[in-house]
Amino acid sequence: MIDADRSLQPSTLCIHAGTHLDAATGGACSPIYPSTAFAFPNASHTPVYPRFFNTPNQQVINRKLAALEQGEDALVFGSGMAAISTLLFAFLKPGDHAVFQADLYGGTQQLVTRELVRFGIEISFGRTVAEFAAARRENTRLIYVESPSNPLLQCVDLAAVAALGREHHALTVIDNTFATPINQNPLPLGFDVVVHSATKYLNGHSDVNAGVVVAAGQIIRRLTDCALKHGGMLDAHSCYQLERGLKTLAVRMRQHNANAEQLARFLQQHAAVARVNYPGLPGHPDHAIAKRQMRGFSGMLSFELRDPAQLDAFLTRLRLIMPALSLGGVESLVCIPSRTSHRLMTPAERLQAGISDGLVRLSVGIEDVNDLIADVAQALGAV
Ligand SMILES: *Cc1c(COP(=O)(O)O)cnc(C)c1O
Repeated sequence: MIDADRSLQPSTLCIHAGTHLDAATGGACSPIYPSTAFAFPNASHTPVYPRFFNTPNQQVINRKLAALEQGEDALVFGSGMAAISTLLFAFLKPGDHAVFQADLYGGTQQLVTRELVRFGIEISFGRTVAEFAAARRENTRLIYVESPSNPLLQCVDLAAVAALGREHHALTVIDNTFATPINQNPLPLGFDVVVHSATKYLNGHSDVNAGVVVAAGQIIRRLTDCALKHGGMLDAHSCYQLERGLKTLAVRMRQHNANAEQLARFLQQHAAVARVNYPGLPGHPDHAIAKRQMRGFSGMLSFELRDPAQLDAFLTRLRLIMPALSLGGVESLVCIPSRTSHRLMTPAERLQAGISDGLVRLSVGIEDVNDLIADVAQALGAV
């Protein structure tokens, strides 16, 4: 079985792991099974139903992601937030405490501070392993990080966070969306759970909303039990589209990594730019940690304009790079976190999180890097 062959490299697993055999025709691709009604002749039969998370197309994604993240099992969801919310509701209950990274994806930050707390779940925030340890209480059940984080690309020592969780019997969870399994595998470093917004790099073409959780079989079984009540599953057609996108994940990430590093170096020496955040730059505060636990530094970077009043002039001048929400697609996208992903935070919360009004986040696509540099150069030239 290809999925279980741990000697195969990620590029190979992207293409072959999980593929559903087409017994009818011998075709090379998994067939699409769109049914929502499946035969159920008697009570001894296992019912198949999309919202039970057990259709063939859902299982293809589960097996492919489990193989890529080096986990036992996985569960695909209808969005990254469906995956994250179902996970948190499955493993936290009133009276529990959870520690979250301060520099969180905006949607997760809102879920935690506006919804989770309504159910009597206590929350704390930290930025470093020392701060996570200091925030821990007797009732801490879960530690949740993003590395590299959004939008400052901060990295935490994953092995140290995993050890902290193990020592105190807290479930350790990482949102691995920015790194992807091509650049970073947290499970072998000791993490319990990996979550992804598959909307981003995993699908890679800005045309599917999906999410994935990867973990040990026991964790996925408990999660599935909760998930079929919450109902955030992915339909067969989207599963197939995601499977198609995943086949090129490794080759896309190689280009994202290379392009972002070149753009980061270009921005770093530009007079209009005050600061560049990219974990692949030797000057990044977390470069040493990133180098230890990542094979590549991915395609996300952010930078601060020296003069934030020039932000709109810069955005208007861009010809190739589109100002847009979302990230991780083949096309380069730019966004202003204070106006988009983090707009629902109060100005005080933003300031505390280190997100200035002049911060620009760039999702570097896989276009020719010289075309991207030329576009940024002419837009900055006007600043
Ligand atoms: C986009 C994103 C999410 C949410 O995913 P959706 O598919 O939009 O629900 C979660 N975490 C990170 C890091 C993201 O970039």
